[in-house]
Amino acid sequence: MLRHSAYFTALIETKIFRRTFTFYSFHVPKSVNFALRLIYSLLHFARLMKYETVIGLEVHVQLNTKSKAFCGDAAAYGAAPNTHISAISMAHPGTLPRVNERAIEYAVRLGLALGCDITRDTRFDRKNYFYADSPKGFQTTQDSHPICVGGKLDIEVGGEQKTIRLHHIHLEEDAGKSIHDINPKHSLIDLNRAGVPLLEIVTEPDLRSGEEAYVFITELRKLVRYLDISDGNMQEGSIRCDCNISIRPKGETKLGTRCEIKNVNSMRNAKRAIEYEAKRQIKVIEKGGTIDQETRSFDAQVGHTNNVLRSKENAHDYRYFPEPDLSPVLLTDEYIDTVQKNMPKLPNEIKQELQLVYGLSDYDANVLLEDKDMVFFYKEITQHTKNYKAAANWLTNVIKSYLNENNLSIDQFALSPKTIANLIGMVDDNKLSNAAASQKVFPELVKQPDTSPLELAGQLNLLQDSDAGSIEALVDRIIAKFPDKVKAYRNGKKGLLGMFMGEVMKASGGKVNPKVANQLLREKLDNKT
Ligand code: ADP
Ligand code: MG
Repeated sequence: MLRHSAYFTALIETKIFRRTFTFYSFHVPKSVNFALRLIYSLLHFARLMKYETVIGLEVHVQLNTKSKAFCGDAAAYGAAPNTHISAISMAHPGTLPRVNERAIEYAVRLGLALGCDITRDTRFDRKNYFYADSPKGFQTTQDSHPICVGGKLDIEVGGEQKTIRLHHIHLEEDAGKSIHDINPKHSLIDLNRAGVPLLEIVTEPDLRSGEEAYVFITELRKLVRYLDISDGNMQEGSIRCDCNISIRPKGETKLGTRCEIKNVNSMRNAKRAIEYEAKRQIKVIEKGGTIDQETRSFDAQVGHTNNVLRSKENAHDYRYFPEPDLSPVLLTDEYIDTVQKNMPKLPNEIKQELQLVYGLSDYDANVLLEDKDMVFFYKEITQHTKNYKAAANWLTNVIKSYLNENNLSIDQFALSPKTIANLIGMVDDNKLSNAAASQKVFPELVKQPDTSPLELAGQLNLLQDSDAGSIEALVDRIIAKFPDKVKAYRNGKKGLLGMFMGEVMKASGGKVNPKVANQLLREKLDNKT
């Protein structure tokens, strides 16, 4: 019966409605066509609303250690192909791995920050599969004794706080890279990345939308940057993500069959892939079909997911077994305490500091916290000025827009925190108006970063006169020039103040301090004697 009704709905929508649109759209008034489309969209929406999307993520974070996970080869990104390789990276017979101590420390750092249990005897396993750019024929990873277990990450979506539980975090090595687009006849292989340490963070299936996945990855990326364990650079592949997606009718507690989308390389693509995949699965189910558990890939050009393997090949058999060449790593309480003591400050702690010590709003604090280097820059400005609010305004408005427009990061910014503090000081001392500082001096200053702001403001003829004596003389002149207007003002036409201000500014060439001029004008005009 259920199958029948599903089929019926599908029939109406795919056959009758589509034909209605294409066939009648030329004959019926636009409004009718519009109404039909609206009904179709509503039906479609209602159909989507019956289901809940369930998502679990496996996020791979590349660690920024100097050397690889199990040998001393450099782990740095961007070198000429096959220059960071030794006999171990190339998996020559007889070579032996050694665990990179720093990679263990970074894993513990992340585990502590996420509230995981740290495994005291963590072990390595072999995951066997053939892959052209993985010369060993297996990946050294962790299966039975991952380094961190449990834990959680809190995210905020649509103003609501949500906790995403973690299943575990394990340490493993990356594979090399196959390059297919340089030589038309051959695939080329670069083994620089083979053996670079990765942490894989595996969540419980607690996420419910593409948006939540987007926020989760964003928060995780922020965290690993604050912890200084990864550069979090998604363009360079430092964070990659497998998205497991299933759907189920709302209210159902059993999980549906999932599909796994491999190797998604940005937050935005994770969101797009999840939203597409959920709709695809709903379509299949609504048509009375079933979901096969399969591995899919996301085509970012068209925004679709595609099955990459035949279904038989989707059943993995990795034949995991304990890595015989590495002994278990035993972590003592003292060791874990030391890692805890040396932890860099976490975003939440810094947020509190920004609000309590520097008096910033929730909004300003959040904008600064998006980028760890922004926070450092902010704190350096405040070494040179006590106007904390202005420092935040400069960073979150003027500097941030400039950086965005020019596609720069704050560490590529030409001006020093001291120069920004200097500008703030000039505004505070009424030497320069805020508008002149941000709209005239700043754009010139970034072009000539070695010039002093004061000198530049002088050259641009923007320095304000704040000397009350000389402004008073000017104000007196203007008042004497318009005796009728003065009378009118004193008879109640207070709006004329604007006209007087305009005259004073004009006569001074825009260089008197408006606050001082305004105050003097009021005093003189209101004083009827
Ligand atoms: P595997 O070992 O095959 O990768 P796991 O059971 O370890 O599978 O799960 C991997 C990821 O898939 C986890 O993030 C988990 O939360 C998620 N997951 C598992 N089952 C489902 C499901 N039915 N729907 C959505 N996500 C799922
Ligand atoms: Mg998996």
